[in-house]
Amino acid sequence: MSTEHAERRNHAVRAAVEQGLLGEEEPVVALLDIDGIRESAAALREAFASVTDAPVLHAFAVKAAPLVPVLALLNAEGIGAEVASPGELALARAAGVPLERTVLDSPAKTPGELRDAIGLGIALNADNPQELTRIDELAGGADRLPPLGIRVNPQTGAGSIGALSTATATSKFGVALRDPGARAAVVRMYRDRPWLTRLHLHSGSQGVALTRMIEGVREVYALAEEINSAVGRRQVDTIDIGGGLPVNFSSDEVRPTFAEYAALLKREVPGLMDGRYGLVTEYGRALLAKHGTILARVEYAKTAGGRRIAVTHAGVQVATRTVYDPASWPLRIAAYDATGRPRDGAPVVQDIAGPACFAGDLLAEGRELPPLDQGDVVAALDTGAYYFSNHYGYNTLPRPAVHGFTADGEQVAFRLVRAAQTTAELVTEAGGDLADALL
Ligand SMILES: *Cc1c(COP(=O)(O)O)cnc(C)c1O
Repeated sequence: MSTEHAERRNHAVRAAVEQGLLGEEEPVVALLDIDGIRESAAALREAFASVTDAPVLHAFAVKAAPLVPVLALLNAEGIGAEVASPGELALARAAGVPLERTVLDSPAKTPGELRDAIGLGIALNADNPQELTRIDELAGGADRLPPLGIRVNPQTGAGSIGALSTATATSKFGVALRDPGARAAVVRMYRDRPWLTRLHLHSGSQGVALTRMIEGVREVYALAEEINSAVGRRQVDTIDIGGGLPVNFSSDEVRPTFAEYAALLKREVPGLMDGRYGLVTEYGRALLAKHGTILARVEYAKTAGGRRIAVTHAGVQVATRTVYDPASWPLRIAAYDATGRPRDGAPVVQDIAGPACFAGDLLAEGRELPPLDQGDVVAALDTGAYYFSNHYGYNTLPRPAVHGFTADGEQVAFRLVRAAQTTAELVTEAGGDLADALL
């Protein structure tokens, strides 16, 4: 699958150049491999269908690629939506994701958000006891309740990226299960509320080892068993294991696969997969990352202090995490010539710089690549999740266009997913209609 994937990408880059998607007007564009997304969705469904007979809801973490056509594509593949804000919920609804395939998690839901979710019948997970008290009030007046659960933090420890580690002792998410008295308190919360039927954790992420993710799931499974035996019935019927499967950013190989992870879960937490518990998953990065590519024109090629620098149009606005934390988020860069064909030439060390006005705006530093020249094209690979879809407005750089593509051999067809932001839209967003407001 990986060489096929790389071949499709090469065809798409060439077609994007030939069809003028990338040019002086739009010197940076993003591409999404539609068949690749479908393949990942199918791999996810099949991975869990082969380890449990119980119902499984796969809810895509919308924050990973908040683009309505992407959510609609995933919905057509049977994947729902995990949302964490009114905006994300609106995107999921605009994409036609059924309410019963939508899950709301967020650490800071307002009373209005809770009321709306319960009124609409959207499953939600309470983050903490105060939120549960708000839900108590709403649940009293409702004749039908959606599936409701509590998010717990198994406190199994951090991964290699601090900002993304949700299961540290002091993480802001969920009820911290190992704090003194917390476990017994959670059991009481369920005993007092027969309508609490789910348990939620999201303890993985990029940089978290699979063994650690599984340790978290094992803890939450044990807690579900403890609650059910304390109340004397199968009150917790569904466990939401969150997302967080890490992605391999160093080659085209998909590693780990959903199938590997599901099989490992079944081996390590067999009770979770014996059909007694329904499951919810919330993968984001692992579904989308491999299927996105950012293309940017090399505007200038220069040298400074003996270092070659390709000055391109892709930087912090589309690759925010990589630019601010390059050690945690290195991206592969592929070099193409001005016709969109893979560039040849003996690799030389160079920096791939972005367009923003600060020195650290580099997509890659000291990277060995065929010598890039003015008019060439660089591609930032594996950027389908959390990159161009999560724009950062530095220097008033516009959100680039996003095109989905299918490739039949060298025949590539594009479909617009999101138009590039116009200069007029940038002005409006910056208060352009309120120019006199401070005079
Ligand atoms: C971010 C997030 C996810 C998705 O994480 P990925 O690493 O993209 O799979 C799932 N669930 C919750 C609660 C999240 O915050």
